[in-house]
Amino acid sequence: DRCLAVLTSGGDSQGMNAAVRAVVRIALFKGMKPYLVNEGYKGLVEGGELIKECQWTDVTHTMHKGGTIIGTARCKEFRERSGRLDAAANLVKARINNLVIIGGDGSLTGANIFKEEWKGLLEELVRKERITQEEAALLPYLNIVGLVGSIDNDMCGTDMTIGTDSALHRIIEAMDCLVSTASSHQRTFVLEIMGRNCGYLTIMAGIAVGAEWVLIPENPPKEGWEESMCDKLKSSREKGRRLNFILVAEGAIDQENKKITTSDVKKVIDSKLGFDTRVTVLGHVQRGGRPSAYDRILGTRMGAAAVQTLFEAKGEMDAFMIAIRGNEMTKLPLMSCVETTKKIGSALNERDFNRMQELRGSS
Ligand code: ATP
Repeated sequence: DRCLAVLTSGGDSQGMNAAVRAVVRIALFKGMKPYLVNEGYKGLVEGGELIKECQWTDVTHTMHKGGTIIGTARCKEFRERSGRLDAAANLVKARINNLVIIGGDGSLTGANIFKEEWKGLLEELVRKERITQEEAALLPYLNIVGLVGSIDNDMCGTDMTIGTDSALHRIIEAMDCLVSTASSHQRTFVLEIMGRNCGYLTIMAGIAVGAEWVLIPENPPKEGWEESMCDKLKSSREKGRRLNFILVAEGAIDQENKKITTSDVKKVIDSKLGFDTRVTVLGHVQRGGRPSAYDRILGTRMGAAAVQTLFEAKGEMDAFMIAIRGNEMTKLPLMSCVETTKKIGSALNERDFNRMQELRGSS
């Protein structure tokens, strides 16, 4: 039997379980033997009980759960060749040379390095007599497919990442709750929204609830934005609005590349308008709770596409990332997606917004 293992790595996100479930079940359907690797790359490095063959019913009733049932971790050992050597030894023992990695750009980079080193790792394991020549010969290459599990929707090449839609639901549910209290007291709420260097969640939440002002990293506000924002808030109050919402992405910056925080925004409103202003940081609530229907379906489709890609490989294949583009599943070269994403991050740091747009357009 061809064996395949799936793991989740980096930050958790809603919908990862749907992806894991689909990987297991489509693998079984295709006649491949699925394994679950628990605790991300730590599971690969440590092996033993953390790498387990999996049956159809092992993933029953997991789709509706948030987070990841197989655990995730940040594993510093896997960043070192010695850790990856242990990981290779554990995979060889279990006869696994197909991997589905669900994580962010760091996890996918790690997977690619592991794939590139595979032959060298096996040679070293044979030299050290940790595996036999025959064992090594059975698994001459490692095929990998990556899925992006991230609430930030910050990977190039895919329209959506697994978890983003659920996080948006969490944010707008929380904001709907704040509406009643904000309106009763005529308050202004300044919310910090997750997303690291990506303003997607902030913009979309702003549209979904009708926020009056958003601050995102991709479009630092022009000088004097404080005045413009206050004018806007004041005029909407004058027109009868009883509350205000301002959303600040956690990566929001100004023209000088200085971080803009929720407390900066509160101070501006306090001093210029004297409105009763409160700061709410939703924090990890955004990545918790049940996955939305969209994320369950996205995770399922991506998981299925990942197995299909590995199943169809006739021998060694390039590393792929499964993406959704215009509602179609597609496979893209993994490292070009990761590298473009990193380049966009660097362009953002250098505040080269034209380059950022160019890179976006090309991905
Ligand atoms: P998130 O976007 O949620 O942070 P991520 O996958 O980018 O997810 P990281 O912490 O960057 O999160 O990576 C997760 C794990 O992947 C690391 O702890 C490490 O085990 C592995 N990893 C990341 N980068 C590398 C690398 N360059 N080489 C080897 N392994 C890596």
